[in-house]
Amino acid sequence: MVKYLDLRRVNALYEPALSQEVARVVESGWYLSGEEVGRFEQRWAQYCGTRHCVGCGNGLDALTLILMAYISLGRMEKGDEVIVAANTYIASILAIIRAGLKPVLCEPEASTANVDVEVVERCITERTRAVMPVHLYGRMCRMEQLTKVAKMHGLLIVEDCAQAHGAAVGGKKAGAWGHAAAFSFYPGKNLGALGDAGAVTTDDDALAERVRMLANYGSSKKYVHPFVGVNSRLDEVQAAVLNVKMDGLDADNKRRRNIAELYINGITNTEVLFPAREVEVSAHVYHIFAVFSPRRDVLQAYLKRKEIETLIHYPIPPHRQEALAEFSDLHLPITEKIHSEELSLPISAAMTDEEVSSVVDVVNSFG
Ligand SMILES: *Cc1c(COP(=O)(O)O)cnc(C)c1O
Repeated sequence: MVKYLDLRRVNALYEPALSQEVARVVESGWYLSGEEVGRFEQRWAQYCGTRHCVGCGNGLDALTLILMAYISLGRMEKGDEVIVAANTYIASILAIIRAGLKPVLCEPEASTANVDVEVVERCITERTRAVMPVHLYGRMCRMEQLTKVAKMHGLLIVEDCAQAHGAAVGGKKAGAWGHAAAFSFYPGKNLGALGDAGAVTTDDDALAERVRMLANYGSSKKYVHPFVGVNSRLDEVQAAVLNVKMDGLDADNKRRRNIAELYINGITNTEVLFPAREVEVSAHVYHIFAVFSPRRDVLQAYLKRKEIETLIHYPIPPHRQEALAEFSDLHLPITEKIHSEELSLPISAAMTDEEVSSVVDVVNSFG
């Protein structure tokens, strides 16, 4: 049986340091806003190449806090439009709605499933204030092109880096391209905590300060509240976990690329299609190894019978969700095709070569 993702095995790669560090925090008696969080924020900012990193509760909050902070700073107004690819995970869109802004869903590129810069340009209106590139599956969006378009139209770029820890293009990491960026450290992400955790990265001093305050009840001084904030903090236990696991991120990503290479070279079944290859190797960290097949559901059932677990990212596109009924009239054929054909093969740093080749063999035997 090949599991889609064996988190027990993934985290065992970090023992005994992981348990030792958690025990150390437990014994310290200090659980929020302490040294571990400070150390992680400093190290993650340095890793990404930004001036600031602000920890928070999860990835959805990281995205929401950025947008709330822009509104709080007067750089956006409620009702302004934010352009986002229609095939993203629903969190990207929920963050825009929660902040009181209007998501404008645009079709992605069919070849990469990432935001299509030409479509973005066509979606810009007088109310557009920002574009939210989501580095889906762990693959960097076309950030150079997007930056040009954003500059031309005076738009902010808010990156959703929840699937792209450590990905880089043109010598710049995910999290350093945008005016601000959001990370999730959900356990299954490339850098995963032992529960929920998230962070914002930015070079913008004012934004970082406002995000930090908004995440802490709108306050920077105990019992003094200039803004209507929320409670969304990164805690010491999760920060300690991230401090340990961060050291292995580059090696983990390297192993993911290696597995992707084995899949790409090994899978010869013409019923199974891959997204376009990456020009720059560093630009993809394979959070998800996506393949596409018009017979996706039959393929998934076949793999399951052969004891290979797969997932679908994602079975229902956001505009077809009941929660987003207001978008149900949109005509988004590329997005719908992605959602009906995508299948995610097992991938993680803890997978063995034997497991990878058994996946390859079973996929090739599908007919
Ligand atoms: C995981 C994810 C999020 C949300 O992160 P949480 O920590 O679960 O809130 C946002 N966007 C994308 C693209 C994600 O994959």
